Amino acid sequence: MGCIEDENHFFNGCEETTKAIAHHVSEILKLLDQDVNREGILKTPERVAKAYQFLTHGTKDEHDLEDLLTSANFSQNYNEMVVVKDIEFYSLCEHHMLPFYGKVHVGYIPNGKVVGLSKIPRVVEIFARRLQIQEQMTMQIKLALEKYLQPKGVAVVIEARHMCMMVRGVQKHQPTTVTSSLCGDFLKDIKTREEFMNLIRSFNSL
Ligand SMILES: [Zn+2]
Repeated sequence: MGCIEDENHFFNGCEETTKAIAHHVSEILKLLDQDVNREGILKTPERVAKAYQFLTHGTKDEHDLEDLLTSANFSQNYNEMVVVKDIEFYSLCEHHMLPFYGKVHVGYIPNGKVVGLSKIPRVVEIFARRLQIQEQMTMQIKLALEKYLQPKGVAVVIEARHMCMMVRGVQKHQPTTVTSSLCGDFLKDIKTREEFMNLIRSFNSL
């Protein structure tokens, strides 16, 4: 009720929720000694309320997972490794509510079921748009693919930069954090794992 999508189906929050969050954001701004009546930040509480609803809407979308991964898949004889790399994502660290962002690389070996390639970035989106930690997100993506595709193996690698480390100036040059989660053939077979790692490292010039 009262949920707004703009013309690009960009989720823009629900009216009641937006009002309630905006009230609290305004209180936070006051506690931070900001003048909430200053022209520049007059509409900030409402904007923040909408932004945070957008940045966490993956939690609500989780029920789409099953449809997403079962509706479009069809049995095929293709049983070679499928790799979708460099899937851009933006998430929020659940400790500071600051962004972490980067790339997700996904590989799986079908066992009769193949999913449309565009579905995998949607799965990433569902797990990224919420309060999250990188290790958990890596595992959740793997588990979702394992559960619905029942493949011979899944590999997920995430490279990310964390704003909560960067903005507080721990170091000048911030390292990338890399996490991985593997199952099936990717765990059992070194050659399969190496093939995946080589594939996600190559073709960066495309
Ligand atoms: Zn953090």
